[in-house]
Amino acid sequence: MIINSAVRLLDKASEKYCDNVALTDENGSLTYGEYKKTAMNVAGGLLQYLDKSNKVKPVVVCMKKSKEMVCTFMGIMYCGGCYVPTQSDIPLSRLEKIVENLNPVLIVYDDTTKEHVLSANLQVKCVSYDMLSCSKANEQVIEQIVSQIVDTDPIYMMYTSGSTGVPKGVTVSHRGVVDYAIWTSKTFGFTQEDIFGNQAPFYFDNSIFDIYTCLLTGAQMNIIPESLFMFPSKLPEFIRDNGITTIFWVPTVMINVANSGALSLVKMPTLKNVLFCGEVMPNSALNVWRRDAGELMYANLYGPTEITDVCTYYIVDRKFDDNEKLPIGIPCENMKAIILTEDGKQAQKGEQGELCIGGSGVSLGYFNAKEITDKAFIQNPLNPYYHERLYRTGDICYMSEDGLIMYVGRMDSQIKLKGNRIELGEIENAAQCLEEIENACAIFDSENEKIFLFAETSHKLVLRKVNNELKKYIPKYMLPTELVCLEKLPHTANDKIDRVTLKKTYITGEIQ
Ligand code: AMP
Repeated sequence: MIINSAVRLLDKASEKYCDNVALTDENGSLTYGEYKKTAMNVAGGLLQYLDKSNKVKPVVVCMKKSKEMVCTFMGIMYCGGCYVPTQSDIPLSRLEKIVENLNPVLIVYDDTTKEHVLSANLQVKCVSYDMLSCSKANEQVIEQIVSQIVDTDPIYMMYTSGSTGVPKGVTVSHRGVVDYAIWTSKTFGFTQEDIFGNQAPFYFDNSIFDIYTCLLTGAQMNIIPESLFMFPSKLPEFIRDNGITTIFWVPTVMINVANSGALSLVKMPTLKNVLFCGEVMPNSALNVWRRDAGELMYANLYGPTEITDVCTYYIVDRKFDDNEKLPIGIPCENMKAIILTEDGKQAQKGEQGELCIGGSGVSLGYFNAKEITDKAFIQNPLNPYYHERLYRTGDICYMSEDGLIMYVGRMDSQIKLKGNRIELGEIENAAQCLEEIENACAIFDSENEKIFLFAETSHKLVLRKVNNELKKYIPKYMLPTELVCLEKLPHTANDKIDRVTLKKTYITGEIQ
């Protein structure tokens, strides 16, 4: 049977697993029955704002991470809308840029985010979760709306860092999400007995794995309190005390837990599946897990936001030395991974090229941004016969002798810091908004995981004050860790900022 909308998964789960615990957070739990009821109530409230016309209906959700936030996503889908999750403390200037690009129907806030959202200068209707959830939905009206959804319609948009300073709204389809959930549950054999320990923020696409795999299988999603991630040594206890069977975390969190030493002290008898995605997973840390947490199912998943979460995977099936690299593996079902050389040909085994992704998980593109969409989503150059979209990941990869894709690095200045995707250009753009800064250049010191901001300025600036200003434009995880003030930034012969000289002078010390 074709599932035209991912919210059909909630319909099914609420029948099949009505009394199973579906969502848990620090304030309690909801069963699948209650999950659907709450989502329907939210839908009832939303219907007052969303008209029934056929246009895209984006709804921004700026709430504290909670089970209510997930119910809001589902409520939006019941109304034929698509949800746009943001950080609860999203910088207002970023929110304004998103609103300008998106022209949303509505912004949903809760008690924690109310003041923040309402202090922004937005020409959009804002409404509280409490208002929405105390409504009632007409089931027939909802059914009629859901039956009109086509599986290629957008389900969510996630805004990711843009090098020009404007975040890009990756628009993903229902089909991508449903296919992905079918693949995850089949590949890893999840059942209603599973309990997922959710780490990923809901504005980060790793959360799609948790939300929709649970929906499809009747498993429970336990939203780990965000504050706990500041104390990685406590995470194994959380896993043990909550009977968690499955985690899908960014490697940074797994590394922090490995370094905390807690894995050798706390037994986690229920834990079976350890999956990770979002950045390179060093084998030195994975080997600590394998030694101390045991030989569980470990899997390295790979995928950019522009694909529905994940497009390749590798189930760890042998011992790796600390300094070896983990493959990112093979394509997921219904996905295609092609490595293209600079001249658009398929790379030979061992030859490096850009990883390009095709298949049902490829997103619909960047919302309301045709030019950048056309650059990143291209016709498959190996297929001259019909329209076949590929997403150019910007990741340099090669195919190993045994047919596994190996990740090498980036082709551009996009970086990953603690699992967060950052375009250095977005930091530079934000810095240039500050009055005292004439010109700016951001460079990543990958060895020490530091972002250097080089500012052309005649003022004596201090990092703390600069960051206080930058916080208005960019999220906290993008803030520079070092500031170097220069009267003039060095330039190359063709008048570009000389990044190499800056790096060698101030970061590696190769130029004295
Ligand atoms: P995001 O859009 O935040 O999911 O970031 C996507 C980028 O993260 C990819 O293009 C890669 O550069 C990197 N990435 C994701 N998963 C992995 C992985 N398993 N190994 C190495 N890099 C990864």
